Amino acid sequence: MSDCIFCKIVDGKIPAQKVYEDEDILAFNDINPARPVHVLVIPKRHITSLATVSDDDTAVLGKILAKANEIAVAQGSPDGFRVIINTGRVGQQEVPHLHAHIVGGPEPVGPMLKRI
Ligand code: 5GP
Ligand code: ZN
Repeated sequence: MSDCIFCKIVDGKIPAQKVYEDEDILAFNDINPARPVHVLVIPKRHITSLATVSDDDTAVLGKILAKANEIAVAQGSPDGFRVIINTGRVGQQEVPHLHAHIVGGPEPVGPMLKRI
C-alpha cells in the first residue's frame, strides 16, 4: 500500500528504530512511547487490521505473538509485558496497518491503558 505509513517503514522510506526483523514481521519502537518499553510489531505484508484478516494471515499473526516475549526481554521488559491490538473505529486504531503494541518495562504497566 503506497500511502501506508507502516508499509513505508517496511520499505525503508520512513526511518524507524528497528528492534527485530525477519522475512515476515518487523518490530520497531513506537515514536510516542507510553511506557519505557513500547514496541510495535507488524506483518511486513500489508494487513489493515484484525477486522480484515483471512485464513492466509494465521501464520504471521501467530508469529507476532510468538516473538513478543523475545522482543520484550531484549528491550528491557524481562518479567512480562502487555500486548494491545487496537482494531478499527471502536478500537480507536489510528494507523490502518495491523500492529501489536508491546508495552512494558522494569515495572508493572498499571491498570488497562486508557489510550495507547
Ligand atoms: P494505534 O492507535 O493505531 O493502535 O497506534 C498507532 C501507533 O503508531 C501510535 O502509538 C503512534 O505513536 C505510532 N506511530 C504513528 N506514526 C508512527 C511513525 O511514523 N513511527 C513510529 N515509530 N511510530 C508511529
Ligand atoms: Zn501497510
